[in-house]
Amino acid sequence: MALRKILLEGDSTLRKKSREVTKFDTRTQELIEDMFETMRQEDGLGLAAPQVGILKRVFVMEAMEDNEATAFINPIIIDENGEQTGAEGCLSLPGLFGIVSRPEEIRVRAQDPSGEEFEKTYTGLEARCVCHEIDHLNGILYRDKAEDGLHKLESEEEPSENGNGDASEEGKVEMKVADSDA
Ligand SMILES: [Zn+2]
Repeated sequence: MALRKILLEGDSTLRKKSREVTKFDTRTQELIEDMFETMRQEDGLGLAAPQVGILKRVFVMEAMEDNEATAFINPIIIDENGEQTGAEGCLSLPGLFGIVSRPEEIRVRAQDPSGEEFEKTYTGLEARCVCHEIDHLNGILYRDKAEDGLHKLESEEEPSENGNGDASEEGKVEMKVADSDA
């Protein structure tokens, strides 16, 4: 496994449409393992392949509720319900957040690393994350959807050395900028 470099906004790769995955080979599995490692290193909730320069329809997410790490290959949203409006951030746009409306609940169909198809329903923050990551696969950044432009996160507090560093994690994370499901 290896950490991959996360591309930042301005890199044209982030604006390209990713291709379907047709081979479920070791290269794909390696990519997914590297993406999990990179996401965890950055303390993110999700990460899409184009963010590490690979234009394949793959993203990973670590659901917060059950800590379930899931890789989604060729994902599509097959159903959505309701609406939520809240703060969103992105590892490719560090230090920023914006207010974005997303469905409150989505059902996603995708393939796992062995090519097996699965479906899953997500609500709240995880639904927001899935939408955000699928946007990445289509070259869309959340800046495009932010209602009132992007804002700077307040300067990060000094990282606490005795483990009470929750506040300082804001801004590093892909999605959990504010946790608010207003
Ligand atoms: Zn992102």
